[in-house]
Amino acid sequence: MTNFNEAFRDSERAVKLLHALEKITTRPWVIMEMCGGQTHSMMKYGIDQLLPPQIEVVHGPGCPVCVTPLELIDKAIAIAQRPEVIFTSYGDMLRVPGSRQDLFSVRAGGGDVRVVYSALDALRIAQENPQKEVVFFGIGFETTAPANGISILQADRLGVRNYAVLVSQVRVPPAMEMILAAPANRVQGFLAAGHVCAVMGTREYGPISERFGVPITVTGFEPVDLLAGIYETILMLETAAPQVNNAYSRSVTAEGNVAAQRMLAELFEPCDRNWRGIGLIPQSGWKLRPAFAAYDAEIKFGATDIHAQESEICIAGQILQGLRKPTDCPAFGTACTPLHPLGATMVSGEGACAAYYKYRRTV
Ligand code: SF4
Repeated sequence: MTNFNEAFRDSERAVKLLHALEKITTRPWVIMEMCGGQTHSMMKYGIDQLLPPQIEVVHGPGCPVCVTPLELIDKAIAIAQRPEVIFTSYGDMLRVPGSRQDLFSVRAGGGDVRVVYSALDALRIAQENPQKEVVFFGIGFETTAPANGISILQADRLGVRNYAVLVSQVRVPPAMEMILAAPANRVQGFLAAGHVCAVMGTREYGPISERFGVPITVTGFEPVDLLAGIYETILMLETAAPQVNNAYSRSVTAEGNVAAQRMLAELFEPCDRNWRGIGLIPQSGWKLRPAFAAYDAEIKFGATDIHAQESEICIAGQILQGLRKPTDCPAFGTACTPLHPLGATMVSGEGACAAYYKYRRTV
């Protein structure tokens, strides 16, 4: 059976899009892909090296592991060290450095830290271990929020009381606004993350495009998707006609997944959130509503008073705002490697530094 995605890796379609881009590009443009998955796809298929030289692609903050704030990693570590706790997390988070250690070192020291593939796996562990407290590290964007959130609703319905989530849910639109409003901003157009829009739809982006006069193209993750997204964005820039375009209509509709949005509204309310290396972005996160406080690990374990200082070497915050590239960091590939990461962007499977390292972008 043919892989459905193969059609979006078709080299003939890709070459046609590249020729079309060459024809319409008349001056330098800087565009940002919002999602770390798009960054890795771009590097993997060499798209950044095939584009007309006037087009510069910079990498946005859409990597959940990368933007989870340092203080939350420290809170996770403090909770995971408690003897009554089984701490569960997606695998990438275990190697992300906190202020002094990471979750792997907690496990090496005897802590019960387990990798799970979904929040529902963590809930199952809670049901199987009623004498323990099970905590799930619920990180991510609008994409993961429904899957993380449903475990709380399910725990509530089943009366599972030994389950809690350390919530670090963030939202894309406030981050876009922060990037565009910054005095040093270089970004002139966005490739919005297709999977985020599959949940939330596209309506949140219209006011941003209008207010800042930037084109936003909802874009997928395969090479042809990325080239189509870049083409539409450059076309809008060249014709001075910024708006929101959907180049990922096989998965995204304007209204998005309404059932998921209803569930998110029942569970979460907007809050200010710190983004690692970037700082506080107003209304950029979700926290659990008071009705679900019993499932909030920060409240349950009193881990609300932990504060942390970022590394002075790591420039990941600037990379995630499109101001610098990983190769601008003096530690890149020397003091900081995937085996010995100094920052989260070198750890994550979606991190920009990890992508540059893996696909040998050294200049
Ligand atoms: S190379 Fe390492 S230290 Fe430098 S910005 Fe990336 S993660 Fe931070």
